[in-house]
Amino acid sequence: MTGQSAEFVERTHCINCGSTHLTDIASGRIGDNPLRSFLESDPWGESPMPYIENAEWAYARCEDCQQTFHRRILAPAWVQKHYTDWVSHEAMQQFSADQNTPEGQFQRARENAMHVLRIEKLTRGIRGGDAVRVLDFGCGYGDFLAVCDCFGFEASGIDFSPDRRREGRVEILPDMVALKATARAEKGFHAATLFQVLEHVTEPLNILKSVGELVLPGGLLVLETPDCTGVTGIQTLSDYRNIHPLDHINGFVPATLCSIAQRAGFDPIDRGEAHVTADWKRAAKTEVKRLIGRFRKPTTQQYFRKR
Ligand SMILES: [Zn+2]
Repeated sequence: MTGQSAEFVERTHCINCGSTHLTDIASGRIGDNPLRSFLESDPWGESPMPYIENAEWAYARCEDCQQTFHRRILAPAWVQKHYTDWVSHEAMQQFSADQNTPEGQFQRARENAMHVLRIEKLTRGIRGGDAVRVLDFGCGYGDFLAVCDCFGFEASGIDFSPDRRREGRVEILPDMVALKATARAEKGFHAATLFQVLEHVTEPLNILKSVGELVLPGGLLVLETPDCTGVTGIQTLSDYRNIHPLDHINGFVPATLCSIAQRAGFDPIDRGEAHVTADWKRAAKTEVKRLIGRFRKPTTQQYFRKR
């Protein structure tokens, strides 16, 4: 593939409702600034720029359901190259090192523990005396699964990256086929989680549907994506982080995240509060906010129950 231009494929239907009523809200050439400079500031193994600089990108909105997404995405063979040569092992380590401040790591562990507490509470009605069976799809190195495991959950993870599976903190399976062969999948899961996954995948609705098949009726779905509210193009670094044309190919806002889950057979629920803190003022503040707020501002971290 050396010296070649990367191949892109066109998505002609809305990734959420399937409509063809799409309008481009922003477009350009990948090699033009400011996108070029944002791409060049990220850590890469082999630089993707020679392969992609002449390619056009187009960020579209569906006129029927308001879902936004990149219309032109890398062809499958090039996605492979993206995740092996461009986002190399070293580049990924560098990227994690840049993100993993001690405080950031503490916050993520806290949030993971809060999810565990909520999931335990919200699945009591469907599991009798069984341990919580949870599936984390796109689990990365398995940080969330490791927390689940500490709490006695039967935690299963799927990640496509061989790197992450090799260095994962728990056993991680490569795909749904491997998962379906396990006894846990046979019994069905009480909860499935997809943290920072749906923005990356070509067909997010199909993924939600196939994950949904493994969730028991009344079971939970927990989704989290970047919030692309107000993002109308790639002008700033924050825009780029939200709708990176190689990585974040789908842009969700609270309403579209909710509608895609509904289309896959799930209903939104109130996740309730969980407190993981040694600071009582912090817990009190959260509770007061919950009591007086009642209508918590919708975010792109949402809980659902399977119909
Ligand atoms: Zn649509």
